[in-house]
Amino acid sequence: MNWRLSKIQYPIYNLGPGKRIGIWVQGCNLACEGCINQMLWSKRKGKYLPVYEVFNIIKNLEEDYDGITISGGEPFQQYEQLIAFIYLIKTQTKLNIQCYTGYELNELSTLYQDGLYLKFIDYLVDGRYVQSQHENENIKGSKNQNYYQIINGEAIKCDSDFKSKKWSVNVSLEGDIYMAGIPKKSDIKNLISDLQRKGIHKIFK
Ligand code: SF4
Repeated sequence: MNWRLSKIQYPIYNLGPGKRIGIWVQGCNLACEGCINQMLWSKRKGKYLPVYEVFNIIKNLEEDYDGITISGGEPFQQYEQLIAFIYLIKTQTKLNIQCYTGYELNELSTLYQDGLYLKFIDYLVDGRYVQSQHENENIKGSKNQNYYQIINGEAIKCDSDFKSKKWSVNVSLEGDIYMAGIPKKSDIKNLISDLQRKGIHKIFK
């Protein structure tokens, strides 16, 4: 079973507690106005990787991590792949799983009545991004979204009790610059022009 992904990035120190691996799923048709990840909307772009290969990449990482964050794009629009992957992670590693979705929890329960996601996900952030309610303080993109901890299959609405950096910039081994987190649009623009002034012309991935 293949999974259409945009990228896998590590380490990231936001979008969930501790030191994490970030997986960005490719493809989303929810079209929230002001989405900062519009390059992840297309269901034709990205890499098409076997779920098991993605799992092996993560299992074989030499450093220790606390968890995995799955974002996108819309992770639930490749539901079978999502479930297969989080099943492997939960049964074969100690990593916790935080997942972002543009669907609200009640939509998920209608769309995916097997409820399997509630078995394997530890933390869920739900709801469309609403530009007029942009939140730049912690792990949510906009104030209307909710943060849940899932315990024994029950999603409990709560505030995140960990300190998260708003966003961060790292350089991968391949020399790519990557950003993780929830910046204001002007933050990225300013960073790109600062880099360009120093002669660094990079495109954020
Ligand atoms: S659900 Fe997420 S990726 Fe999809 S349009 Fe909304 S903010 Fe963008």
